[in-house]
Amino acid sequence: MTIRHHPEDELLLQLAAGRLDAAAAIVLAVHAEQCPRCRERVRDFEALGGVLLDALEPELLAPAALAETLARIDGAATPRPQAAAMPAVRAQLPEGLPWPRSLAGCAIGPWRLLGPGLRWSRIGAPHDAQANLFLLRVDGGRQLPMHSHRGREMTQVLYGAFDDGRGQFGPGDFDTADDAVHHQPVVLPGSTCVCLASVSGKVLFDGWLARIGGALVGM
Ligand SMILES: [Zn+2]
Repeated sequence: MTIRHHPEDELLLQLAAGRLDAAAAIVLAVHAEQCPRCRERVRDFEALGGVLLDALEPELLAPAALAETLARIDGAATPRPQAAAMPAVRAQLPEGLPWPRSLAGCAIGPWRLLGPGLRWSRIGAPHDAQANLFLLRVDGGRQLPMHSHRGREMTQVLYGAFDDGRGQFGPGDFDTADDAVHHQPVVLPGSTCVCLASVSGKVLFDGWLARIGGALVGM
């Protein structure tokens, strides 16, 4: 896995300090799980120690959630049996897709149709009922509706690849987009793309059909 797109240090620092909402923390934890470079960075930030943590007054993520997130990152180098997920969701994932350890403890919703060749599954975070976290499964050659954001969208590619005009993103790559980004990710032909994504704030789709779709899924 050649990872070309990494989270900024600021995000990894916020992860280490427990400053992120649960959905964002899980997406970043999955990246750190798959990316030795960022795993090391998170450990570096942890090693800065209690002084930094105290100064930042972690408040968004419950202490237990942070401890579990960091424990998962620490354990990522040790292969273990994959966490169980809803069989129906797992059955429709491409073969060879490693199920992220950081999703252990999450509730995995059924696949729902969002558009032609486009399905999503809501993921319930164990410590935050409001977490806006989901899997997206998009067929090769399909695209997401053009959209922008009021908040921050984070995406971790688990399988396949997409191009949103800003660059190409493949397995292990991380992407973040905020209200300055107006983009339309297109999945490369020939392979399904599966991403884990979190959204803070609203995703603003262009066009009435896409808007209705967004409203239906609560984005
Ligand atoms: Zn990385």
